[in-house]
Order: sequence, then structure tokens, then C-alpha cells
Amino acid sequence: MSDESIVIVGAGHAGVQLCASLIEAGQGHRVHLLSAEQELPYHRPPLSKSFLKQAKEPTQLLREAAWFERAGVQLSLGQMVVAIDRQAKTVTLRHGGSVSYGQLVLATGTRARIPPAWSLEATNVHVLRTARDARVLRQALQACSAVTILGGGFIGLEVAATCASLGKQVRVLEAGSRLMGRAVSPALSDHVVRAHRAAGIDIELQASARPQFHGDRLVRLTTDFGQHDVDLLLVAVGAQPESDLAQAAGLRCDDGIVVDAQLRTSDPHILAIGDGARFPWGQAHLRLESIQNAQDQARLAASTLLGGPAALYRPMPWFWSEQGALRLQMVGLLESGPVETYRREGAQPGALSLFHYQQGILRCAESVNAPADYLVARKWLEAGLSPPLDRLTDLAIPLRAILAPS
Ligand code: FAD
Repeated sequence: MSDESIVIVGAGHAGVQLCASLIEAGQGHRVHLLSAEQELPYHRPPLSKSFLKQAKEPTQLLREAAWFERAGVQLSLGQMVVAIDRQAKTVTLRHGGSVSYGQLVLATGTRARIPPAWSLEATNVHVLRTARDARVLRQALQACSAVTILGGGFIGLEVAATCASLGKQVRVLEAGSRLMGRAVSPALSDHVVRAHRAAGIDIELQASARPQFHGDRLVRLTTDFGQHDVDLLLVAVGAQPESDLAQAAGLRCDDGIVVDAQLRTSDPHILAIGDGARFPWGQAHLRLESIQNAQDQARLAASTLLGGPAALYRPMPWFWSEQGALRLQMVGLLESGPVETYRREGAQPGALSLFHYQQGILRCAESVNAPADYLVARKWLEAGLSPPLDRLTDLAIPLRAILAPS
């Protein structure tokens, strides 16, 4: 291929959205998309939810094969990239051969984090990142009645709620003092832990678990509070960026592939997007693991690749998580420093909205089973509006009427 070619490594949400944006710009014929996975690119969020419930549930494809063909995108499945030669501008494939690029985009995402000193050799220990992982887990769930989940983050709690809905006995062991501690406010953690416990899920906090193996099985976990026999364990203690390829090629990495505000790595011919990219945020760098981030970065990357106006990546992050009867939605980000929160209990079962202010400015909103509140807050944040906190406390006024963005 010529200097014109755009090679994308990784066909997840970011890689496929980048294809879509390049196709929209009439540039599909320049794109070669390399995927380590054997199957057509699919949506990951259902894997911890509906996909586990039905034995025959198929993956939800991001795009059909014909869509790539029609646009002239070359899609190569089962092609893991193992090296980048930045001088020659080629990538090497694990099964042999190499592909030349004019511009390269690393959309390699993350992989499941494994706690130090743990092994995934045991036949009853699982992780959940890919459709393949989900199929193996789904199969294993059919033969067990009790599920233990290591990690009380989004994926762990989604699977916990799914398993509870399947009638399994579920226990979550979380090392931190609260659920989803890296991503949500203490008030939301507290609300969610109470809801899951009320739904029959056993949740142990501050539970650093030590494993005990017998033959090829994990048989027991010991925490400071007691011993738990294990039938099936899901390890859901977070994800780590797939940055080995970038690191070996000498690109700047620091818990992710470091990019500038236009998503270029330390090599101007190489961009990085999605879960694996760490971008500038205020005085620091930030890495987000969400569909919003993958898609928004992909759209901006297309503009950078095609020499569009020098837009900078300044996202308004949003995220959702479905945990059984709880639908969590979040928008915005808090800075460090004191926070003032307005709390609104909704009429729906389990409904709660939290509006977080810093120095009188609305920075972030979180809701559970309150989509209307979430939507209003998102509109406010996107429009840069901040209703005065004291006006929010007047519950007689519908939120959307307090400060309607024009
Ligand atoms: P990925 O989707 O992970 O794609 C990266 C791809 O790159 C993978 O296919 C990988 O195989 C491939 N790759 C890696 N290295 C190479 C290589 N060397 N050569 C070739 N290919 C390579 N987000 C939400 O916002 N809401 C949710 O409810 C939600 N639920 C989730 C549930 C689950 C079970 C999981 C796993 C994730 C969930 N997420 C959710 C997160 C969301 O899926 C990710 O943020 C999103 O997938 C990130 O997209 P990405 O393209 O950066 O990475």
C-alpha cells in the first residue's frame, strides 16, 4: 500500500467507528482494518447482560461484512499485529507477513487485569472481555448454582445482577471500601450496594481474597472475614491498556498510549484511540473506558488523519451501566477539591439523582432509574449551563424548567 493508506489495529468500538467516519468522508478505500479476533466486530456492553442469559443469543454486530466491502474497507480478521517498524512504516502480523501504512491508528483497547500472583489456569476461573470469554462463561454458568465475583466494578456488578436474575446464588468480593470506587461518588456506591443486597446479592467490602487451588480448580477464597468455597469465579478487577505493541515500538506510554489533544502519539504518523489511549485533560492525562470515549475519539481521529480543522479532544464524558433493575447513567467529571451535592430521590423504585457542584458550577450528574433527570443534566453540562444549586432544591419545579438551554 502507499503513503495514502490508513491502517487501523483493533476492530472494537473505536476502530469500527473510525472506519465509519472515514467512509463518511469518502475515504473507505484507503482503510485496512486489522483485528486479532476471528469474528466480525460486535458490541461489548451486552456481553455482561443479555448475552449471558440466553444460550443461543448471538453477538450484536457493529457492522455486517457487506458494509465493509461496499465501502472498500479491507477487513482482516484473526490478524494480530505483533510489531511496528516505524522506520519502514510497516506492521508485522503474528501469522507472517507485514502491512505498510501511511498513517497508523492503534485502537487496541484493554485486556482484563489479573491480580498479581493469580493464575487463570484453573478451569473454573473466568474473565470477561471478548465474545469468546462470554460464550465460555455462559456455558459454565449452566452447570453451576453459585457464582463468586472478584471485583465490585461495573462489569462485576452487571454480571452479578445477570446471574442473580438467572437464579444463581451470587457473592461479590470487593477489595475497596465501596462499589465502583474509581468511577462513581460515595453516595451512588452506597445506594447501589443497598439495592444489590436487597436483591439477594451477597457483597463483601474490603475483602482482599487469597485463592486456594486444588488440581486444576480454584476451590476456596479466604478474606479477612472468612472462607468461601468457590464453584465458579469471575475475575472482574478492571482492565489494563493493550499498549505492549506501542511500548515495544518506542511510543510514549504511561498506563496507556499517551496522545496529544488531536490523538497523535509521540510519532506523528501514529494515532491512538479508545480505551487504550491516554489524552490530555487539564494539567494531567486521562484514560476513559467507555463507548462514548471510543466513538468520540474515533470521530476526531478521522479529522486529524484527513487534515481537518485542528479540533482538540474535549469530551463531555458519559457512561451507562445496567445492573439488573438498576440503570445507572453518569455524565461529566469531577475535578479534585470539595464537592457539594444535591440529592433527589425519584418516584420510580430505586430512583436517585445526584448533581455534583464544585465552586458553584455543575460538574457531574449521576442517576439511577431516572433517565429524565440524567438527560436534563446532560443538556445543561453540554451547554455549559449551571443552574444555581439552591434552585434545584425546590422540588416543585421540574428540573427541565429550572434552566432550559435554548
Ligand atoms: P475494544 O472494544 O476492546 O477493542 C479493541 C480491539 O483491538 C479488540 O478486538 C482486540 O482484540 C483488538 N486488538 C488488541 N491488540 C491487537 C493487536 N495487536 N492486533 C490486532 N488487534 C488487536 N461501556 C459503556 O460505555 N457502557 C457499558 O455498559 C459497557 N459495558 C461493557 C461490558 C463489557 C463486558 C465490556 C468488556 C466492556 C463494556 N464497556 C461498556 C466498555 C466498552 O465496551 C469499551 O469502552 C469499548 O469497547 C472500547 O472500545 P475500544 O475500541 O477502545 O476497545
